[in-house]
Amino acid sequence: MTIGEQTLTGPRGGLPHGGVLVDRRLGVVEAAGLEGAGLASLALSGAEVADLRALASGAYSPLTGFMGAKEHQAVLEGMRLADGTLWPIPVCLGLPDGVRVGEGGRLALRDAGGGFLGVLEVSEVFERDRRAEAELVYGTGDPAHPGVARVLGAPARAVAGPVWALVEPLEGPVGSRALTPSQTRAAFASRGWVTVVGFQTRNPVHRAHEYLMKCALEMADGLLLHPLVGPTKDGDVPVEVRMAAYEAVLGYFPAARVVLAALVAPMRYAGPREAVLHALVRKNYGCTHFIVGRDHAGVGRYYGPFQAQELLASLAAEELGIVPLRFDNAFYCRRCQAMATAKTCPHPEADQVALSGTQVRAMLASGQLPPPEFSRAEVAQLLIDAYQR
Ligand SMILES: [Zn+2]
Repeated sequence: MTIGEQTLTGPRGGLPHGGVLVDRRLGVVEAAGLEGAGLASLALSGAEVADLRALASGAYSPLTGFMGAKEHQAVLEGMRLADGTLWPIPVCLGLPDGVRVGEGGRLALRDAGGGFLGVLEVSEVFERDRRAEAELVYGTGDPAHPGVARVLGAPARAVAGPVWALVEPLEGPVGSRALTPSQTRAAFASRGWVTVVGFQTRNPVHRAHEYLMKCALEMADGLLLHPLVGPTKDGDVPVEVRMAAYEAVLGYFPAARVVLAALVAPMRYAGPREAVLHALVRKNYGCTHFIVGRDHAGVGRYYGPFQAQELLASLAAEELGIVPLRFDNAFYCRRCQAMATAKTCPHPEADQVALSGTQVRAMLASGQLPPPEFSRAEVAQLLIDAYQR
């Protein structure tokens, strides 16, 4: 990001993607009626449960349900919905063998424990080309990629149609932080914010991320710290630890300038295409700007460090409708005696306080605090406690 280029006047006042915020939430009374209606049931995976909530709350606007064959193909091949609207990643619902549904019928959607979540108005059952989805969306058919593994492991058939679902506050550590897009929009409006920067993360926030957020916040009215809390891969830090760490980081921001909310959605690790999805979702939450770092939404070595930023930069501004703020990795420089990036510091790597993820995990596991230039002590202590449990 070149600061002089960023005027931070938001594009068209932060309209949702497609122009209208979708609301497919069921009331408690309606839900009770549908639950007792004797509909055939479909049990959803954890990722599908999170996608259902994102659909019903409007986080995935303009989507109103799970995709059919035509949408699936259009998204795979052109990164567009069938009507031409930009959309980078399929949102599908697997239909296991043995579950029978008729087109035009309704399915009760349930979690793994049988809890009622909502209904699907079945428009179509289709064969999902999972191999093509992996190659075109994730850029690899490698089953070692966690997102690809989920796609290849999904049922061969998918069931499509509009949904209606309960969107309740969550129990547990996320609790009341699982705000809907209409709730964050109301929060921004009540604070009088016009420009709002969104920050996506699935990790604890260290000094480098804090620096990027503060660089953006120097120019925007407010910040949405928006960790993704849906299903992630094994080895990612548990959500209750992460939420506590985010709360600790809030102590380093003026309270009136930040909203902390949790995004309930599955992580797909699709790199560039997922960076586009992350931007569109934050647009729906009312953000006008979105921080995109190195290897955004990547995993392993499947994507180049700036591939996500390049894909976002290649899209027309009116079509994207949210301004990507492209950042490089940040670090503490001993010679500058400040946080910096390669864009602002001329000194060699030897002057940087930098730790690899592996080094940090080893320190935390042995109860050792990383240097204060790398991690706030409160955050590091939370992680040490979690590693030692
Ligand atoms: Zn320096």
